[in-house]
Amino acid sequence: MAKYGEELMKQGIAYFSMEIALSNKMHTYSGGLGVLASDVVKSSADLNIPLVAVTLISRKGYFRQELTRDGRQIEHPDPWNPQDFLQNLPVEVSVQIEGRDVRVKAWVYNVKGAGENIVPVYFLDTDVEGNSREDREITSHLYGGDERYRLKQEIVLGIGGVRILESLGIKIRKYHMNEGHSSLLTLELLRRYNMDADRVRSMCIFTTHTPVEAAHDKFPYDLVREVLGEIVPFDLLRRLGGEDMLNMTLLALNLSDYINGVSKRHRVVSREMFPSYEIHAITNGVHPYTWTCESFRRLYDKYLPGWAHEPELLSRVDIIPSSEIWRAHMEAKRRLIDYINSVTDVKMDYETLTIGFARRATAYKRHTLIFSDIDRLRRVNKKGRIQLIFAGKAHPRDEPGKKMIEEIFRYKSILKGEIEITYLENYDVEIAAKLVSGVDVWLNTPLPPLEASGTSGMKAAYNGVINFSVLDGWWIEGWIEGITGWAIGPTPEERRLMPIEEQLAMELNDLYGKLEHVIAPMYYGRRDEWIRLMENSIGKLASYFNSHRMMHRYVTEAYL
Ligand SMILES: *Cc1c(COP(=O)(O)O)cnc(C)c1O
Repeated sequence: MAKYGEELMKQGIAYFSMEIALSNKMHTYSGGLGVLASDVVKSSADLNIPLVAVTLISRKGYFRQELTRDGRQIEHPDPWNPQDFLQNLPVEVSVQIEGRDVRVKAWVYNVKGAGENIVPVYFLDTDVEGNSREDREITSHLYGGDERYRLKQEIVLGIGGVRILESLGIKIRKYHMNEGHSSLLTLELLRRYNMDADRVRSMCIFTTHTPVEAAHDKFPYDLVREVLGEIVPFDLLRRLGGEDMLNMTLLALNLSDYINGVSKRHRVVSREMFPSYEIHAITNGVHPYTWTCESFRRLYDKYLPGWAHEPELLSRVDIIPSSEIWRAHMEAKRRLIDYINSVTDVKMDYETLTIGFARRATAYKRHTLIFSDIDRLRRVNKKGRIQLIFAGKAHPRDEPGKKMIEEIFRYKSILKGEIEITYLENYDVEIAAKLVSGVDVWLNTPLPPLEASGTSGMKAAYNGVINFSVLDGWWIEGWIEGITGWAIGPTPEERRLMPIEEQLAMELNDLYGKLEHVIAPMYYGRRDEWIRLMENSIGKLASYFNSHRMMHRYVTEAYL
């Protein structure tokens, strides 16, 4: 391993993630979790943090989304060519699955930082000669297949991952689990350290991402016995991973020294779910350079050189002339609108107040909330014209999520000739970058408290786009009413005392009321005030909600 060896011997932290969104052409991600993993890796590279990442190769991707004329989602395989992007490593390990030895090999992608530092990302692959046809498919489909398939993938990720790092000769001090998918790595460590749980605990960090109990991976012990076998004694496994089912979240909680949620609010919710664990909060962030569009990169380079390395400099945004902020925004907006007019059948224009909404299409994200009262939406549009851009994939088995997309298409035809509405196909990081920079307002209406953090609104802030969001996740920490953006609905404290119908009524009141009386009048009538808010998004939000700050916190609180 001389070629990779020496430099990497220094690497101390191994970051495990089921998905990672390094590039649009590498289809190894589905959404926010993968984008976060990628921003972790990029910031670590920029900040010289000795980190390596481990993930699955997902040769056939998540899926490519096609939408029919009436909004039905059709899922296509989404393969990519690892050999075009990755370096094939001469290593191979094996893991036991269903009593067979399954061979696992690895590929590497080196992420270069702003300086000389490199963070290698290892992609695990079972498509290896000697494996059965079925086993060669284990690392094919991200979040595909049934429970058994998922368990096999998690064996490859957790156990195979630890073994690959070992066989590469990389010394790891700490293992960071990005969500519970990789928590089987703790079993491999237990085996290695004679079942010494304290020792393992001192090496593990766990970041939880979802406040929905049902979303945590759980496997019946019959299946575990069959597929994984007894890598550690079953009574120990039951004590650590749950009595009735192997709960991957519980396993990670029980074997980690440092546990965190991804926003301050999420910490509170997680503590209610898991009262016997100490849970910290490290609020997510986004990678500054990646999520800033060209026109704003140029502007920041000119007035705030060094911003991409030290995004705190953005708090000095006031030295940039307002006219140049607006010009940079209009450049991004024109690019988006031109793109939309070229790939869809709508006719959008540069002058209209443009509202963007893009995220995973799943019920709690409530893509359709803005259509709850069509007449009020029409009234808003009479006061100040709006156009709406949507995007997002629904998981193939998420029927309500798919229905939600179809509903938007229905509203689109109901409002035809009045409000231009489009739903972009196949939401990915490239479309995300265009959207979060090219719209005027970034709308976010998840059902509290289900949004652990959310990151797309932070991306918007880097491009001077103004957030209009429900008070949940990161926005509770970023929101200053009328200064950094606007809130939809009550605060968490107010919600506690309010029946659910009242909460919804207040959300709709804010949604339509602020659009009609605050947002549209300011956009069309008081441009200087509008630009002030754009500047505040940059100066007060982007300067803080970035992955450099986030990684500084992981280093000082969890890694050191
Ligand atoms: C940023 C991003 C997400 C996550 O956005 P949220 O606001 O956290 O839902 C999902 N998908 C893609 C492609 C992204 O770029």
